[in-house]
Parts: sequence; structure tokens; C-alpha cells
Amino acid sequence: MNEPLTITLKTLTPLWTGGADGKSDRLHATGIIGSLRWWYEAVVRGLGGEACDPVEHPCIYDAEQPHTGLCLGCQMFGATGWARRFRLTIEDRTGAGGPDGTKQPTGNRYKGDGKTRPSWYFKGGRIGELTIKIVPTASDFDPVGILGPLVLIERWGGLGAKPQLGYGQIKIESAPSLDPDEFARGVQTIAATQPGTRPDLPSLDRMFFAEMQAPDAGVTATLNVKYDLRAAFRTAFDGNQTLRHWVCGSVRGEQRQASKISISQAVNGAVRVWGWIPENVPAGATRDQVVDKIRAALEVYGTLRYWREFDSGRDSLGRQRDIAAYLISLLEESL
Ligand SMILES: [Zn+2]
Repeated sequence: MNEPLTITLKTLTPLWTGGADGKSDRLHATGIIGSLRWWYEAVVRGLGGEACDPVEHPCIYDAEQPHTGLCLGCQMFGATGWARRFRLTIEDRTGAGGPDGTKQPTGNRYKGDGKTRPSWYFKGGRIGELTIKIVPTASDFDPVGILGPLVLIERWGGLGAKPQLGYGQIKIESAPSLDPDEFARGVQTIAATQPGTRPDLPSLDRMFFAEMQAPDAGVTATLNVKYDLRAAFRTAFDGNQTLRHWVCGSVRGEQRQASKISISQAVNGAVRVWGWIPENVPAGATRDQVVDKIRAALEVYGTLRYWREFDSGRDSLGRQRDIAAYLISLLEESL
């Protein structure tokens, strides 16, 4: 199948795909492609395949090397000397919108002084509809490699940048239908041709996906959950601050770390929280304890509707030890 794909999306929370001067003046294809790539790679790694870190250590095409020197992510999304297997264009019908300016959590959520609230700065993103056209540029292009990640994003994640602040929740209005089984088996097959282990990079088997009924609306929900998670980790594990910054992120100078947890803005009373917690947790706790703590904090905040996690007794559908079956269950319409 080498037909172009036409996908129409609607934003549920503002979309941020980057832009000049920190402004989101229009949608940028690179931001959409980067996000599809991130999810594709997380799935490939989760199913046991090799996907490099395309930011820090990208592959370089070399005809002399096995697989021409390219990991599975680079084969699809391109690398130095190797073109991406498709072209992506956007018909942008979005406009500027979404929360703008300083926002704060509510309720009894204060800084250590008990008087002032922490604050986060929001910039308006893009809101509305967009149509993405994907034109294959190579005969080995497989459309499920785009549609699979996109459905995962729609159901459990976020598209574009700033997912930690709840940007990028989307609804697929129209797209070629995805066969979850075909996607999962397809990735499993190519993963077997190039097995890899990169425990230091995001991987589906070490991610969790939660959805809860939220007592707050919009970005207030995002910031209240963010606050509550930080508060829970402030005292947990004997007050281990290294661990807290590692999980919740830190904006302090050189120690700047991104949060491992993304929190959507509330949409129709629901907030989704998802993240990647690798096996190798800083000293003082196990991965299992960290994930347990996250879940416990969310249960205090709202009513948990779903918790999805591979090979875990915490999973709402029961422990699933087959990663392909787990992926299929994430993609399927009904839970
Ligand atoms: Zn690569």
C-alpha cells in the first residue's frame, strides 16, 4: 500500500509544535513528525527492537554496515544520509488559543511558606482542526507505522511538545482505519530483525497510562495534579530529593531535568496522566515503589478510571505478560 494517507485531527487541548521566538504562530510539521517518531520508537523498544537516541546519538547511514548502520527508528524517520520514508504536509486550520500567562494551582496548595502558590507560565498554542497528508516516498513505507503511534497518542498520550503541561490532546476525526493486531505483529516482526536493549530510553514496557475523573477543569487540573505529585514525593522515601527531581523534574539551573510524567489538561472532566519510569531508578527506591507512589497520589486527587501498565498487577485489565497483546489492548476501541 503506497497510497497517501489523509488524517484529520481536532485539538482537545492546545497543540504546541514549536516556533520562532517561543511563539506558536502556526503548526510546524517537524513538531508533529518528532512526536510520531517518539511514540514509534517507544513501541519499537518496548517490543524488543533497536531505536537509537535521535537527538543525542543519531545513526549515520553507512552502506558497509549491517542494516546500513540504521536503527529501526532512523530507517523510518530518517538519519544523516538516509531520507525519511514519507513526506508530511499540514493543512492548518487552527488558530491561536488556549491558556495564556501565569497559572497557579488552587485549594490548599502553597509553597513552603504556606502563603504563596507556585506558578507556571502558559503560552497560547494552536486550537482547531488540521489535516495531515502523508505521502510515502519509498516502497518500504508501512502506513501502520504512522497510524499506530497516532492512535496511541489519541488514546493515551499527547501530540507535539509540552505534554508535561497538558498540551496536545487530540481527537482523530478521520483517518484510514488501523488494525491494532497488524501494527503490533508488524513491529514485533521488524524488532526481531534488529533486537536492541536501551533501558535508558523511553520504552512502552516501562510506561504507564492513567485516566481519572478530575474535580478541576482545564489547566487547573494539570497544575493541581502536578503539585500533588511533587508534594507526595517531597516526603516519600525519606525525603529523597534526588529521586523527587528525577521523577517530577527540576528547573534549577544546571540540574534542569524534564519531568517523567505528563499531565493533560482536563477535558470533559477527565485528566490523563502518563509517563515513563525506567528500571534504573536513583538510589533509595525501586521502580515498582516509585510507580506505586505515583498511582497512590493520583488516587488521592481524583477517581482513577484506568491504569494501564505492562506486566503489572496494577493494570486495570489484569497483568498482561505478552507485550504485543498489551499493545493491542491499548489500541483497541473498548476497554
Ligand atoms: Zn537511529
